Formats: sequence, structure tokens, C-alpha cells
Amino acid sequence: MGHHFLHQDRRRYDPRKLPRLVQSALTLLLVTFAGLTCLIGWWADSSGISTASVLYRAILLEVMLVFILGMVARLLLLRFLIFPLHHKANYDDLTDLMRPGSFWDQAESVIEQAAADGVAVAFAFLDIDDFKQVNDTYGHASGDAVLKTFGQLLAQNARSTDILGRLGGEEFGWLMLGADDRDASEAVSRVLEICQSLCVGSIQGFTFSAGVTSKRPDGNKVPRAWDLARRADEGLYQAKADGKARIVVSQPPDMVGA
Ligand code: GH3
Ligand code: MG
Ligand code: MG
Repeated sequence: MGHHFLHQDRRRYDPRKLPRLVQSALTLLLVTFAGLTCLIGWWADSSGISTASVLYRAILLEVMLVFILGMVARLLLLRFLIFPLHHKANYDDLTDLMRPGSFWDQAESVIEQAAADGVAVAFAFLDIDDFKQVNDTYGHASGDAVLKTFGQLLAQNARSTDILGRLGGEEFGWLMLGADDRDASEAVSRVLEICQSLCVGSIQGFTFSAGVTSKRPDGNKVPRAWDLARRADEGLYQAKADGKARIVVSQPPDMVGA
């Protein structure tokens, strides 16, 4: 099947086309109004009405029209070009979870938020078990379906203040604001249970391994997202070594400032 997931939905919104689009729209608008003004002038002339006052009013009307059309164009541009572009740049096509770059950016601000609110923050690293085997047995498209379902499942089980990212092929990050080790491992366990009993096409259940860590508020010291992730990754490594399909909580001795 090749790596078609790399090319999904490519270039549907090409930002390079934007200047040309704006230029065409402006030209069209200008031509329309020039034509309209000529037409009104000709009509006023042939009806014997004072051309000057009619043209004056026509131009005023046109200015208002330009203003209104400009507003509408702006809204349409935001809704159908800028927002989709922004979403496409920051979210993964397949799972609709954050891409790594935006995930790590957001992670720093969530952690700062936790420190400011004086609440804990937890990080979970999840990696689907034997995913290569899923691809080899059921085909790449089925593997994609598993990833997509998994993404939806995570989104359904996350809180609105959590952030979720697809950090690698079948590796995911879940940062939970206001959650400690227990909250986080409970949430991740819930997802694991669902995965085990879930049917995706002909695949009957799948599992993942996860490492979880958390940080309680500690004065004005703010941990770095990367430190949390590294700690969670150690748990993930342990979970794989212990036989997969499990969650390992890594207890940080004191990772702040480390
Ligand atoms: P482990 O249990 O140790 O995690 O083994 P694994 O097979 O899950 O891990 P490994 O890193 O060996 O293989 C990951 C596989 O994920 C290999 C790669 O082809 C596949 N993969 C990565 N991205 C995608 C994707 O977008 N779609 C599909 N279908 N497969 C993908
Ligand atoms: Mg992996
Ligand atoms: Mg894996």
C-alpha cells in the first residue's frame, strides 16, 4: 500500500494561492464598480437627471457595498481558508490530534497554567503494542483505522483542559491539567480497557503500553514539558519490558529544576 498516510489530503488549501486569490477578487470588484458607475452615469444622462448628483450617490453606495462585501469576504476567508489552514498546520490529518510542534508549545503553557493555579499536572506517554504486526496482518489501511479510532477514543476521554498529541507513528502524548498520578493512570486505564474490547474492522481489540508521571505544584518552580515526558517515557519503556498492555507510573524523586 505504500505510505499513503503521508500524503493524505495534500495541499487542499495551498497558502501560495492566497495572494493571487485576493488580487483576482480586487480586480473583479474594481471592474464591477467601474462598470456600474458608467452604467448609472449613462442611465442618468439618458433620463435627463443631473448626472453629478446621481453619480455622487452611486459612488457613496458603492463605497458602502465595498465595505459590506469586504466584511463578508473577511468572514468567508477566515471560515474557509484561515481556520482550516491553521487547523491543518497544527493537527494531524489521520487522528486529528495535535502535531508534535504544537503539542510541545501548548504543553509548556498548560504546565505554566498548572503552576499558576497551584494544581498538579500529569503526563502520559502511550504507545500501541505490536502495531507493526497489526499492519503486517491486516494491512496498512486497517492500521490507519486503528490510529484514527484511538485518536477519537483519547479525545472522548480527555478533559477540555487536557492536550493530546500524536508524537510519533503510533505514539501519543496526553497532558492533563489538575491531575495527579492516580487521576492520570485511572484515565489511561479506562482507555486501555475500551481498546481491549473494541472492534476496528476485523481487528478485535488492541492494546497499548503507557508511562505516566505527574508533578505537584511546587512554589513558583515550573517543570519543563520535556522533563515530564522523559520521565513518562521511562515508565513506558518499563511497561513494554514488563510485557506490554499496562501502565507504569514513574515516581519522580524531585524533578523540578532538574
Ligand atoms: P511495540 O509493541 O514494541 O511498540 O512494537 P510496535 O510494532 O508497535 O512498534 P514499532 O516501532 O516496531 O512499529 C511501529 C509501526 O507503526 C511501524 C510503522 O510502519 C507503523 N506506523 C507508523 N505510522 C503509521 C501510520 O500512520 N499508519 C500505519 N498504518 N502505520 C504506521
Ligand atoms: Mg513506537
Ligand atoms: Mg508500538
